[in-house]
Amino acid sequence: MSIYKKEYILKSINPIHIGTGGVRLGRVDNTIIRKVHSEIPYIPGTALSGALRGYSAIKVEKASCGGANIDKENYKSLYCGHDDCPICQNFGYTLYGKSKQGNLKINDAEIILFPVKTNYGIMYITTIEMFYKVIDKENSKDDIFSEKMRNILIDNIYIKDIKVLKEDINIKISDIALEQIIILDEKMFSYFINKMLEVRTSVSLENHIAIDGALFTYEAIPENTYFYLEINSKMPFDKKYSKFEISDVINRGFEGIKEFGIGGMTTRGFGSLELVSEV
Ligand SMILES: [Zn+2]
Repeated sequence: MSIYKKEYILKSINPIHIGTGGVRLGRVDNTIIRKVHSEIPYIPGTALSGALRGYSAIKVEKASCGGANIDKENYKSLYCGHDDCPICQNFGYTLYGKSKQGNLKINDAEIILFPVKTNYGIMYITTIEMFYKVIDKENSKDDIFSEKMRNILIDNIYIKDIKVLKEDINIKISDIALEQIIILDEKMFSYFINKMLEVRTSVSLENHIAIDGALFTYEAIPENTYFYLEINSKMPFDKKYSKFEISDVINRGFEGIKEFGIGGMTTRGFGSLELVSEV
């Protein structure tokens, strides 16, 4: 069976908090989820899949196929399971105790460009592996570095001999200049991301009244962070269910993620991601 693939680049337009569920780390009460080995934060595919499904279902007027829908009183699934349902077919469903996998496999969204403060203003750190995902494919086989080196002060840490990229590389993101990109090894990349995650303090409210001992700290991935996401499909992306192509169903889900957010604290204006590029 063939597997079709689409690559998306998403940008956070406000902070993103995908929590670990009450794990406390040092001084932070609400930590975010990280990859086990690299300790780099990411957005799990399961969270994306749930959000894409839920928002898309509303936009294609199949709201009852959107959530984890069990009618608790009757122990009955509310998914329609129809052959032409764009939500059930793409995201899967459970009906009469039987589960059917959807067409789509939503992978984890990984950070490809992370904003840092430097002596040259805002720049973006990445790794060589991640950088290949934001440039046009023709560039990827060539050597991408020029002979030049530069020294940059990132968040008050002086990094010497950073390789400069060749000038003719085309990046898929129009609002970032090539000179703003700093390629680091994975350890340094992880180090700076973890150093610069926004840690904020907030207050728990009950009916708009702060409760005693209510101050808490939490981490969030800052705005203007770019993520790479690969979505796989068992069917070609232009296949239609009812009148909706698969890629259209995904894009309607992304509209919802931009509008309403993903993860925690969306009621405080968190979690919005914008679709920047799609291949
Ligand atoms: Zn359905």
